[in-house]
Amino acid sequence: MAISENIKKLKGELPKDVTLVAISKTKPNEDLLEAYDCGQREFGENKIQEMTEKWEKLPKDINWHMVGHVQRNKVKYMAPYVSLIHAVDSLKLLKEIHKEADKNNRCINCLLQIKIAEEDSKFGISAEKAKEILDSQEFKKLDHIKVKGLMGMATFTNDQAQVRKEFQHLKSVFDDFKEIYLDFEILSMGMSGDYKTAIDCGSNMVRIGSDIFGSRN
Ligand SMILES: *Cc1c(COP(=O)(O)O)cnc(C)c1O
Repeated sequence: MAISENIKKLKGELPKDVTLVAISKTKPNEDLLEAYDCGQREFGENKIQEMTEKWEKLPKDINWHMVGHVQRNKVKYMAPYVSLIHAVDSLKLLKEIHKEADKNNRCINCLLQIKIAEEDSKFGISAEKAKEILDSQEFKKLDHIKVKGLMGMATFTNDQAQVRKEFQHLKSVFDDFKEIYLDFEILSMGMSGDYKTAIDCGSNMVRIGSDIFGSRN
């Protein structure tokens, strides 16, 4: 199916309060423009250099989401424009984002990535570690960043019961944190293979790539 049809179909399916982030990594600008032309404004990438090249060429009202693992020395390239950084996993990284946001005179929104999958390969921190960061005096001084919520990736498996268990766990952590941290409003979970389960479990932001743009090589 065409990209525009995929977007329309997804938009029709998703509840109103769920934000669709179109994950456009490895895809050419023409593909992003096709999605843009049917109203899509939230795009996600996993490499800072690729995202920056696309940001330079594409319409300026696109909101750019960094969903991949972030190296501290590259934060400066996206600091002028990035809309939301999904996969923050340390206080050190938050400090770097704060520093670069300050230089650009802006406030950058972030999510903490919680490790919910059983596999070792997935990035992220424990809920306890996240709490430790959010409660630290050092974090409270960082006035050019806002932690708006949590992000997580479930185990890559066909076992939907397993996936559901992991998403439910993240939702319960999110609900607990939301009581304490007043900036909390975003729960980013769900990709092409598991977004329906994620929404069932309370996600309000899904990151969908291949169901929109087709499979990647
Ligand atoms: C690539 C990617 C996605 C989208 O994956 P699809 O299976 O193509 O929908 C979502 N989240 C992250 C962090 C990704 O790297």
